[in-house]
Amino acid sequence: MSRKGKRFSLGAYRNRNEMLERMGFKNYQDYLNGDLWLDIKARVLFMYKTCYCCGQKAQLVHHMSYEKDVLLGKNLKMLKSICHRCHESIEFTKDNQKLSLHSANGKMKSLRDNRLHKRSEEKKKRKIKQNQPPTLGLSPFSVEYWHAKSLERDKARIHTSKRQMRKLSKMPLPSQRLRGIKG
Ligand SMILES: [Zn+2]
Repeated sequence: MSRKGKRFSLGAYRNRNEMLERMGFKNYQDYLNGDLWLDIKARVLFMYKTCYCCGQKAQLVHHMSYEKDVLLGKNLKMLKSICHRCHESIEFTKDNQKLSLHSANGKMKSLRDNRLHKRSEEKKKRKIKQNQPPTLGLSPFSVEYWHAKSLERDKARIHTSKRQMRKLSKMPLPSQRLRGIKG
C-alpha cells in the first residue's frame, strides 16, 4: 500500500463495523448510543479529565484501537480523553478528508509530544531564571558563580534554622502546658 493509501485507509473502520455487528450492534452509531459505550466513556473521562493532546478540558474519548477488548472497555489504555477541537484535527485533514486510524493516532501523539516538549522547555527556562544571581554579575559558567551560589544557599539554610530555633524556644514545654491547664 502506498503512503497516501495508508494515510487515508479506512480499513480499520471497516473492521470495526464488522466486529460491532458480530457483537450484536447495528452499526457504530448504535454502539456509541448504547449503555456499554456511555459507561466506558464516562469512566475514561472521570479518570482523565483533560485532553490528551492539548491539556484543556476533554469532552470526548478517542479509540486508538477497535479491537474487541477495547470496544468492550477491557483495555482502557487504548482510549484517550480528548477535546472536540483536537479530535476534529486528528481525524480529518484541513479539507475535511477522514484520516486512517493509524494517521489519526500519529497526529494525536505528535500534538501531545509538542505540548509536553514546550512545557519542559518553559520549565527549563524558568529554572535558569531562578538560578540567576541577583547582583553578583558573574557568569553561571564560572567557578566563582557556583561558589557564591553555594554560600548563598548555606546562609539561607542557617537563617531558617535560627528562626526555627527561636520559634521552638518560645514554645512552652509539655510540662508547662499541662500546668497551664491545671492552673
Ligand atoms: Zn485538545
